[in-house]
Amino acid sequence: MKVDVEPGSGFCFGVQNAVMIAEEALRAGETVFCLGEIVHNDIEVARLTGLGLKAITYEEFEKLHDCKVLIRAHGEPPSTYAKAAENNITIIDATCPIVHSMQEKIRKVAELSRAEKGQIVIYGKEGHAEVIGLMGAAGPRGILVTGKGDLHRIDYSRPVFLFSQTTKSKVQYEVVAEIIRLNMEKVTSDHSSSNLKVHNTICRQVSGREPRLKEFAMKHDVIIFVSGRNSSNGRMLFEVCLKVNPRTHFISSPGELNSEWFHNAASAGVCGATSTPGWLIQEVADLIAAI
Ligand code: SF4
Repeated sequence: MKVDVEPGSGFCFGVQNAVMIAEEALRAGETVFCLGEIVHNDIEVARLTGLGLKAITYEEFEKLHDCKVLIRAHGEPPSTYAKAAENNITIIDATCPIVHSMQEKIRKVAELSRAEKGQIVIYGKEGHAEVIGLMGAAGPRGILVTGKGDLHRIDYSRPVFLFSQTTKSKVQYEVVAEIIRLNMEKVTSDHSSSNLKVHNTICRQVSGREPRLKEFAMKHDVIIFVSGRNSSNGRMLFEVCLKVNPRTHFISSPGELNSEWFHNAASAGVCGATSTPGWLIQEVADLIAAI
């Protein structure tokens, strides 16, 4: 059986950058705390924990003083930086540059649209770290929309500035934007949606992966998708593969492989989420080749 690794698999640029910053900080031999898990992948988290990185919860962060805390690629709301300053905590900021620039843009738009009471609508997953950071940047006029069911939260007679969490599906984002546009045209006297500004904030590292993965999944008899179970990007990309190849299996560690999946298969493809380390994907591929 032929076994291929999807060439675009492995950490995205933002996660790779955060892991590098963490490794560099740990080289000094000091304890570095990380607010939440640095990446949604248990195996990579365990590797970095072995090097001295200590994941903490927000409750634990509140009680810390005089230490170093790493902010992961998802970013944080302004309140986290304020708390760190209050407790003499040195921040090691590993926020992905793409997320950082979106936070800045949201802050600017919120400021500039204050007089016209513009609404900063964030399309994303409730409770996701990146979304919490973006909502924090948006301030009190921020509105979280997790899907079509939340669109009643928007006042369509007022300006809307729409942003998406970087890892959402492009297709679904376009559907949400279109519904907002139609609703706006219904309530405005001139039937116009000129008060809607849709920002293209889906990360190209993710949106570009969707079509490539689809093609890869169609070319192989069996697909093994490797990802942490709590990665929303992983779930989304897994669904993309499953849709075009019903013999797609989700695993989070090599031990979950089942040799029966490869019965009568001439080829197997291995791929993963933006939070799956490349070394883990290769390990899985090597194991399949041995089967
Ligand atoms: S998916 Fe894109 S925006 Fe998110 S961390 Fe990775 S590179 Fe940054």
